[in-house]
Amino acid sequence: RPLVVAIDGPSGSGKSSVSKEVARRLNLAYLDTGAMYRALTWFCLDRGTDLNDASAVELAAEDMPLDISTTPHEEYVRVDGTDVTAAIREPAISSAVSTVATTLGARTELIRRQRALIEKHHRRMVVEGRDITTVVVPGAEVRMLLTASEEARLRRRGIQLGGTQSAEQLAAQVTQRDAKDSTVVNFTQAADGVVTLDSSDLDFEETVTAALRIVTK
Ligand code: C5P
Repeated sequence: RPLVVAIDGPSGSGKSSVSKEVARRLNLAYLDTGAMYRALTWFCLDRGTDLNDASAVELAAEDMPLDISTTPHEEYVRVDGTDVTAAIREPAISSAVSTVATTLGARTELIRRQRALIEKHHRRMVVEGRDITTVVVPGAEVRMLLTASEEARLRRRGIQLGGTQSAEQLAAQVTQRDAKDSTVVNFTQAADGVVTLDSSDLDFEETVTAALRIVTK
């Protein structure tokens, strides 16, 4: 029986690690849609596509040979045979990804691929991103918005990046990316029927437990 768990939220909300763990515990497939936007950004930069040329970015999205993990047990992203799993987490990608993600034609193509992957797994999957509950699978069995206070999100980002950047730099990057992303997708407020899970005062284990409770309710 189908069980799509759609999880949206801003960067640093703990979305990826929580979504992955929920998928593991429920024995569901897992899709990180942010990694697809990051892979497309890598692909565009690699082949010299002008990120501000919307039709060129859309064409790149249609051309991109993408192989992405759909299991929570293994993380990999390959573009045309090149393993870009680590490269797509580099600051150069993080600062350019919103330009690609706000190109509507590119979104259409990535959303099409996301839906195909969900079907391929017989609609038994945890799918995380920014527009999953509202656009990609509005009919998902479970829809949640994982939020956290700005303070908590910046703190987690800092930990994630290994504390190599100043707090101000981090704050500016994350805030700018969320602001730009918000111009095309709404992930700051829960849409009708979407359950909000605020993780500001929860640790990882508590957040996973709360998310599982929402799924099994
Ligand atoms: O989740 P992550 O921070 O890796 O996402 C990277 C970027 O991908 C976001 O900043 C956003 O620009 C884009 N994205 C999106 N829609 C999604 C998932 C990610 O636009 N569903």
